[in-house]
Amino acid sequence: MKKLFSHGYFRSIGFKIAFIIICVGIIPFVVCVPISMRAYESVSIRTDATNLMAQAISYNNQIVTSGYLTGDENSLLDTQLKAVAESYNGRILVVNSTLKIVRDSFSADVGKTVIWENIIYSMQGQSLYYYDKLTNYLIVTVPLTSSEGETVGVLVINKSMDYILTNEDTFLSYMLIGEIIIVSLTLIVAVFSHIHFTKPIKRMSKSLDAIVREYTSEMPEEDSFTELQDISSKFNEVIGKLHSIDESRQEFVSNVSHELKTPLTSMKVLADSLNGSEDVPIEMYKEFMLDIGDEIDRETKIINDLLSLVRMDKSGAQLNVTAVNINELIEHILKRLKPIAEKSDIEVVYESFRPVVAEVDEVKFTLVVTNLVENAIKYNNEGGWVHISLNSDHQFFYIKVEDNGLGIPEDSVEHIFERFYRADKSHSREIGGTGLGLAITKSAIAMHNGEIKVRSKLNEGSTFDVRIPLNYIEKEVH
Ligand code: ADP
Repeated sequence: MKKLFSHGYFRSIGFKIAFIIICVGIIPFVVCVPISMRAYESVSIRTDATNLMAQAISYNNQIVTSGYLTGDENSLLDTQLKAVAESYNGRILVVNSTLKIVRDSFSADVGKTVIWENIIYSMQGQSLYYYDKLTNYLIVTVPLTSSEGETVGVLVINKSMDYILTNEDTFLSYMLIGEIIIVSLTLIVAVFSHIHFTKPIKRMSKSLDAIVREYTSEMPEEDSFTELQDISSKFNEVIGKLHSIDESRQEFVSNVSHELKTPLTSMKVLADSLNGSEDVPIEMYKEFMLDIGDEIDRETKIINDLLSLVRMDKSGAQLNVTAVNINELIEHILKRLKPIAEKSDIEVVYESFRPVVAEVDEVKFTLVVTNLVENAIKYNNEGGWVHISLNSDHQFFYIKVEDNGLGIPEDSVEHIFERFYRADKSHSREIGGTGLGLAITKSAIAMHNGEIKVRSKLNEGSTFDVRIPLNYIEKEVH
């Protein structure tokens, strides 16, 4: 028994279903049998009482005129009452107005005074009955009235109700037979239901074991019950997601290694060419050292970007949220970026529709605006323009970064937020970048419960729309 408990058998669905079915089979019997017995008992008592009262009333005239109440004898009536009392396996008493027994079918208590509340009430004109559960007798008291309508005595009829017990016993034995049949049927149904309901669950559990062992396998679609079908298909969805997460993790690791290796390879080539040749002119030294410096900068930028991404990816990454004046912050960022734009003669225009103060993490939000404006400048043509606008409503603030630059090829638009993705590889290489900027931007916006959307047309320009709630609401982490 202890073993069964420790295996959690009593908490299993199978056991619970079987238990419910057994209860449903047994409880009606336990509840209904006593109720039906009571109902039968009370109906029998009431019917018998009514019949006895009617019979008592039919004897009224004979008793009143017999002279019993004034001490006379009437052997014919005596015999009749005795026969009636015997037929009920009971007793009949005639009591006069002084509560004295004047006739007794047992002839035992004649002359005795009887004081019982039902007789006293009947003396006042009421017909009553009382069922004595202990002796199992029904006692009916009916007033005897004279032709003038005056109560002159009481007729008391006792009737044995033993037949109720006999009938109840018979009823109970039939019910028991019925119940044995019901319990047997419920047990059979319970066992079948137990098997029927637990089989698919056990099947699923086995498939899960296989998945845990092999990791790659899929759970076979379970179509026995809609709920299980739903669970198995959702589970397969989760496995699919886990696989794609795993794939993208592997891809990320190989991308990181590749991106980190590229500047190192360039530096190695530059250094080797300087080391390998004698009498290298000083100008060439200087140029190569500058190139090596550039590659070191590139390596540093990749590492910094990776660190920013990893920090944001960490589950439970915290935002340092404060109320920030967004207008001032954008102006500050643009002041820093304008000199870069001027180098390519790109006009940067900022338009603010209203003052906006929002709850954001200043450092991460700065990354968002910087990346978007930097890209709009980087992927632009000489003499192009970049328009930045800020607006808000009662719930969100909106930033739009628009340029008339290179634009993004249609098939690349959906990938530009992926890590290390760079549209138009040859061009991008010249322009420089890590392919991490928009991935960082998207993560930072998501942390603020915001959204970013892009529209772009090749050779015409791109528009990035950002929407962030004015008030930061921390998401519950389960
Ligand atoms: P990168 O370091 O290459 O700029 P990002 O993640 O910031 O990396 O951008 C990913 C790619 O999206 C870029 O390589 C570029 O091809 C494209 N892109 C981003 N912004 C723009 C833009 N404003 N105009 C055109 N192309 C863009």
